[in-house]
Amino acid sequence: MIPVNEPRIGPRELEYVNECLQTGWISSEGHFIEGFEHAWADYCGMKYGVAVSNGTVALQLAVACLDLQPGDEVILPTFTIISCAQAVIYNGGIPVLVDCDPRTWCMDVGQVEAKITPRTRAIMPVHIYGHPVDMDPLREIARRHKLVIIEDAAEAHGAEYKSARCGGLGDINCFSFYANKIVTTGEGGMVLTNSETINSRLRSLRNLCFQKERRFYHTALGYNFRMTNIQAALGLAQCENIEMAVQQKRWMGQEYTRRLNRFENLQLPVEEAWAKNVYWMYGVVLNESTGMNAVDFAKRLAEGGVMTRPFFLGMHEQPVLHARGLYIDEHYPIAERLARQGLYLPSGMTLTFAQLEKVCDVVGEEINRKQ
Ligand SMILES: *Cc1c(COP(=O)(O)O)cnc(C)c1O
Repeated sequence: MIPVNEPRIGPRELEYVNECLQTGWISSEGHFIEGFEHAWADYCGMKYGVAVSNGTVALQLAVACLDLQPGDEVILPTFTIISCAQAVIYNGGIPVLVDCDPRTWCMDVGQVEAKITPRTRAIMPVHIYGHPVDMDPLREIARRHKLVIIEDAAEAHGAEYKSARCGGLGDINCFSFYANKIVTTGEGGMVLTNSETINSRLRSLRNLCFQKERRFYHTALGYNFRMTNIQAALGLAQCENIEMAVQQKRWMGQEYTRRLNRFENLQLPVEEAWAKNVYWMYGVVLNESTGMNAVDFAKRLAEGGVMTRPFFLGMHEQPVLHARGLYIDEHYPIAERLARQGLYLPSGMTLTFAQLEKVCDVVGEEINRKQ
């Protein structure tokens, strides 16, 4: 079986992690934390980086900085991971949804303005599968309506929008470093900002709102969302190698596209003129004319030795959110189609040329196979 995604761990990772183990700096203190925070913020062109336990809590802390009042709204794409919606809900707000752009699968920026109400506080663009959101029109809307932009760049390490890095395009920008992300710490995340106030707020919230002057005296409730020095050691080593990782992903994406282009019943990822796609996951959308949905297609590919993963199921189709009275009669046709017809092919850092060839051969055989 060709795996969907596996991390690549090099000698520098071993060296840095070993240093933590040998020196005993294994908790959330130690120089790798600051080293990783600086390196990553710098890479994305932002001033401050705050390392946290994972991408889900990175989003939760970013939204916490908005001080939402109950009923305040944050606009986000329906086609995303539930972390985005729950970050808003856990902070007392309401996630308000828009559909996707049918080409990039990212939020349809043209639908955002119609969703703005007097309660709207922020917009949360999510760069899907490595392709950036069309940020300029979104930033223009945010500027006009005085809204904060919380960027979710978990899937877009190294991706660019008009030559500026994703994760450097919003006010509070979030990353995940989960094992399947381009830069990984196993579990981990980071929040980036240019605001000194938000930076100290994030640092305080991540560490139980301890105070420097009087440690066990609290004026606010926080969380333990700290990252360990061991994870940061892994992250810094990965970060120092990101150019190669991004090159590998782009090679993979371009090679897949070159080979799969001839199948008319398969929609492939795009790279808009203003975008640098990092193909975090190489997604394909199957045309209904094949008589198959993504589940049928995935079964066939698995029989051919190719592992796949399904696309997101939209937030408006989630029972847990319906149970809260959200999105009961809402429909987003693009996201609904992607959820049913989309899957992603093996896209890991360890994918070899021979494996990629094999995947394309199996896709070609299975897509035209009669029952
Ligand atoms: C992976 C991911 C997250 C969540 O990250 P975790 O580290 O797994 O909590 C958030 N948003 C997006 C878009 C992701 O792909």
